[in-house]
Amino acid sequence: MIELQGVDKVFQRKGKTTQALNNINLKIEQGDIYGIIGYSGAGKSTLVRLINALEAPTSGRVVVKGQVIGDFNPKQLREMKKDIGMIFQGFNLLESKTVWKNVAIPLILAGKSKAFISERVNELLEVVGLAERAGSYPAELSGGQKQRVGIARALATNPSILLCDEATSALDPQTTAQILVLLKRISQQFNVTLVVITHEMSVIQKICNKVAVMENGCIVEHGNVLDVFGQP
Ligand code: ADP
Ligand code: ADP
Repeated sequence: MIELQGVDKVFQRKGKTTQALNNINLKIEQGDIYGIIGYSGAGKSTLVRLINALEAPTSGRVVVKGQVIGDFNPKQLREMKKDIGMIFQGFNLLESKTVWKNVAIPLILAGKSKAFISERVNELLEVVGLAERAGSYPAELSGGQKQRVGIARALATNPSILLCDEATSALDPQTTAQILVLLKRISQQFNVTLVVITHEMSVIQKICNKVAVMENGCIVEHGNVLDVFGQP
């Protein structure tokens, strides 16, 4: 589903060289809930930006669904981006738009019909339990509700991969647990592969089946969560 083969990423800035990723080999299979854990600066965000094609590797290959990202033409790249949903620590919602509109935006950008958008947005809001808040603005919502909007928006284009970048790091433990339960249900119900980026081991232990531990741009350990971390 997603494979990184011998991936290096080197940043050159103001004469300073940083090797953000160092010979990363990683295989994420369809249906995995794959955790990437590491301290700040380990290279997690860089890894995410390579998977969703915001950055190119300095060397090595990033393969999504059997195709090397670097070989994509612009149309294929757009299709690929619709197939990868993202949710963020800071939710990244449009504050001046309603919940309904925030979720509709990817569908509007994709040129879907009004009827299609209306049906799909209502369905998505049901999935995340926010049907009653369609007309609310983000400022009127709790953190957990905002992330539910983020999840609904990320699922709008029916992606097969959902990248969760510190998606629960701004939430309290109870809300975090609820969001993780929702993500797990979504992965099963819609057969979405989840990539869960976090610095918290408890997040990995709650929902992931596989994990890669990153340090200084390297994967220092990877495998089944129970083998790597033991019983929670
Ligand atoms: P994490 O997400 O695990 O905190 P990052 O991927 O953000 O780690 O960063 C890994 C390393 O790469 C850090 O040393 C960071 O300073 C460096 N880095 C990340 N992005 C850039 C960039 N655009 N330019 C220069 N250095 C960068
Ligand atoms: P804007 O203010 O950016 O023009 P609107 O909030 O007026 O956006 O919504 C644009 C379209 O989205 C409307 O035509 C309407 O069909 C649909 N819409 C907005 N809010 C809802 C809602 N709560 N339930 C159903 N459809 C909605």
